[in-house]
Amino acid sequence: MSMPDCIRLEVGEPNFSTAPHIIEAAHHAALEGHTRYTDNSGIFELRAAIAEQAEESTGREVLPEQVIVTSGAVGALFSTLTCLLDPGDEVIILNPSWPNYQMQLQLLGAVARVVETSPENAYLPTIQQLEEATNAATKALIINTPCNPTGAMFSGDLLNEITQFARHADIFLIADEVYSRITFEEPQISTACYDTDGRVVSINSFSKTYAMTGWRVGYAIAPAILAPLIRKCQEPTVSCVNSPAQHASLAALTGPQHLVEEMRNAYLNRRDIALEMLSQANIPVCTPGGAFYLWVDVSQSGRTAKDFSLDLIHNHQVAIVPGTTFGAENSDRVRISLASEVSDLQEGLRRLISELKR
Ligand code: PLP
Repeated sequence: MSMPDCIRLEVGEPNFSTAPHIIEAAHHAALEGHTRYTDNSGIFELRAAIAEQAEESTGREVLPEQVIVTSGAVGALFSTLTCLLDPGDEVIILNPSWPNYQMQLQLLGAVARVVETSPENAYLPTIQQLEEATNAATKALIINTPCNPTGAMFSGDLLNEITQFARHADIFLIADEVYSRITFEEPQISTACYDTDGRVVSINSFSKTYAMTGWRVGYAIAPAILAPLIRKCQEPTVSCVNSPAQHASLAALTGPQHLVEEMRNAYLNRRDIALEMLSQANIPVCTPGGAFYLWVDVSQSGRTAKDFSLDLIHNHQVAIVPGTTFGAENSDRVRISLASEVSDLQEGLRRLISELKR
């Protein structure tokens, strides 16, 4: 059934266009003959620019050899997990979390060991929980900050403690930081700041920061020992990332950054409008510290999140994501995206509130 007038609050990508100077860089690159395979790890200039930026944000030395340019953050995660895991190995993930972690682990025959987080603990794990989830088969922990779907942000202190935990447990720590430039009160500290012995893999992307989801460029920054293996895993799967898109990403990283700030401000404005509407209606919601989602409690509807979401789309033509998409336990929550025009967000929330109070 098509629904052309549907208000789409389920989307997980910026509603902004890629900046013209980025598009032009891809055009020029193609005209200049950058139309062939590149190194499996990506073009050197882009890896060097990513390494330089990572060095500035972590205060630690990062070499271009540690950077692997990938097919989105999705590709960075998959190549990293492929090189780290054997079937039967375990990886700790948090609930709620982005569903692709589970899916990738399933594809690799690995086991997801799920640690529950809750609003009482600001959707952050405790070290005790992580310790309890660890056993001889554990190879890695995946964290995501700012988090999709909750907007929770890990503080520097917590990241430091988690890195120490990973060191004691002798496991890798995969830090998905794709929303790290979209934060509202505090900047996001990179997990790699606390990596003293080469066990953190930072995952990032151009998708959300520069409104480039369709270009499919992301990257992993890995310890020197791991980076060549991640690079190797790209050969049989994608070989390398689209060459003009890599040049576009270089322009994004080295060009004007005010658009990143403008997009962030737009999400912040939408967040505050939405929080005000929900709080006026007495609907519990966590205040996201970053990313562009609201994690809303719809239990007062008396329905599961899935039934509520279906009723909302059938009765009011508003699409949202049921919380169970992010883990089976979340049947009282839905995710609402802030990546829509303010007028759509307001109208969508008005209809959601009316469906909730029905
Ligand atoms: N990580 C998280 C937490 C995400 O929410 C997403 C996309 O929604 C990604 C990674 C994937 O990003 P990319 O488009 O770079 O593959």
